[in-house]
Amino acid sequence: MSRISERYQRFVVLRDVGKEGLQRIRKSKVAVIGIGGLGSISATKLVTLGVDHLRIVDPDVVDATNLQRQFLYREKDIGQPKVHLAARRLQPLNPEVTIDSIEVQLTKDTVDDLVKDMDVIIDGLDRFAPRYILNDACCRYNVPYIFAGALGATGNLTTILPGRTACLECIYGGVDDAQQPTCHSIGVYPTLLGVVANIQVHEALRIVLGHSPRLAGHLLFVDLNSLRFDQFPIARHEDCVACKNCK
Ligand SMILES: [Zn+2]
Repeated sequence: MSRISERYQRFVVLRDVGKEGLQRIRKSKVAVIGIGGLGSISATKLVTLGVDHLRIVDPDVVDATNLQRQFLYREKDIGQPKVHLAARRLQPLNPEVTIDSIEVQLTKDTVDDLVKDMDVIIDGLDRFAPRYILNDACCRYNVPYIFAGALGATGNLTTILPGRTACLECIYGGVDDAQQPTCHSIGVYPTLLGVVANIQVHEALRIVLGHSPRLAGHLLFVDLNSLRFDQFPIARHEDCVACKNCK
């Protein structure tokens, strides 16, 4: 067995993956928007899984408060842009993956080029304003968008299939970030981030493999302190401003 196929042996042997599944992964293009607490984990997992192209996007520099949970960064990195450091740390994990690190703020002007050629988008953001922009672009380009939020010991997730399932605007339209608690004020368990980010990657994996994502049309609430995982069906809003632009 060649070294390449040896690398993926434990994956290929899965009954619902096989060589065809691996080929799908090896051809996939996935973007992680925000390479902080959630994104550090999802990006690492995607590189070791062997996607063809990983795009990581973040405008921020490393600060000391990141180090306790964002394991791609070191104390000596404080003040340096996250995306390029992350790419440098991730690349040796799997030289076959093309990693595209983009240091940019996600805005209405930048979002199209970040989203349009991707197969799946994974949300690593911590505010709703850029998420609405991302959701809108995913609707326009028909790119699946895996939303997640994590705060304290609780997280929530859904997988948005544009034009088919409720989008972020349908579910959480009109959230004002200024009124929301943040990781700065409430904190976040690093353990929660691992659970939530891995569920996001598993949903992305199912999409790439051609399996139905389990959170399409469902919102999952995770409470790590009670170890409760609750799912609720969610419906599209007929007059949703984002969904009306879905292809
Ligand atoms: Zn919608």
